[in-house]
Amino acid sequence: MEKKDIDWANIGFGYQKTDKRYVSNYVDGAWDDGALISDDTITMSECASVLQYAQTCFEGLKAYTTEDGKIVTFRPDLNAQRMFDTAKRLEMPSFPVDRFVEAVDEVVKANAAYVPPYGSGATLYIRPYLFGISPVIGVKPADNYQFRVFTTPVGPYFKGGIKPLTIKISDFDRAAPNGTGHVKAGLNYAMSLHAIVTAHEEGYDENMYLDAKTRTKVEETGGANFIFVTKDNKVVTPKSDSILPSITRRSLMHVAKEYLGLEVEEREVYVDELTDFAECGLCGTAAVISPVGKIVDHGKEICLPSGMTSMGDTTKKLYDTLTGIQMGKIEAPEGWIREIL
Ligand SMILES: *Cc1c(COP(=O)(O)O)cnc(C)c1O
Repeated sequence: MEKKDIDWANIGFGYQKTDKRYVSNYVDGAWDDGALISDDTITMSECASVLQYAQTCFEGLKAYTTEDGKIVTFRPDLNAQRMFDTAKRLEMPSFPVDRFVEAVDEVVKANAAYVPPYGSGATLYIRPYLFGISPVIGVKPADNYQFRVFTTPVGPYFKGGIKPLTIKISDFDRAAPNGTGHVKAGLNYAMSLHAIVTAHEEGYDENMYLDAKTRTKVEETGGANFIFVTKDNKVVTPKSDSILPSITRRSLMHVAKEYLGLEVEEREVYVDELTDFAECGLCGTAAVISPVGKIVDHGKEICLPSGMTSMGDTTKKLYDTLTGIQMGKIEAPEGWIREIL
């Protein structure tokens, strides 16, 4: 297979149209057979529920070229299950887990020429999403839905090297108790845009959101979960019902325990404890882990001992082990790597 003529090392994190996408429609109470198509546009009613009441959810995962030249995805069954759960919470018909995984396979195969080569640092980002397409004006779920999967090549996240982030404790809330913080709904992102634009204007890279009820506990950022490393090398991640269950974070906690032999804890993390940690990182599919160097709490600077020039030692070990598993250099736990080509 001939690869596309793309400058893989310099593509950035943006949308670039690829050849094929997968579409399945939910009509008359059932999902149709679905197909790969070439049309990258969507035509729908001006009154579609996605446009009026934001009835939409999404997933994000990547396809990689491994050291021995295979094209693989990482734990796509967990993305499938998470979208299944999200759809239920948004009163949308869930797309079957096995069909989701097969749809991802098909789209990646059809766009194999866009999967960046091993060692380029770039990957093929995969975006499954599901939305209400039929008209609603009175507030209720739509009757008809569309499930789509497209792909787009994305560049190395840490272009020009890893630089620890400076983040602020936000005065905005991301998720309410008993709300939708634990599901991957588009609406969680719509309402976070003002907070992130404001944070960027103030010179911060990201927001640290607190629990909305007591504002004493750490939750997550707009699109990544936290992990902390204590001074005695324990890996800690916040526990809360309104945190989105990151697949990267769940995988890193497994790697910490089973590959690195570290003690791990998922528990409530208080803002008051932030000064006790040695390292902090943000985890998600896009960057795997972005190290945090500084947390600013209303003018009070909390400088992580790992500093502003490199990843902390344990964060680096976690990053190297998980990316090693993804790239086929380190043996993966059973079922983590799905070979596509
Ligand atoms: C998608 C997402 C993450 C990261 O999840 P991964 O499965 O690791 O990519 C974290 N937080 C939020 C709010 C998200 O939407």
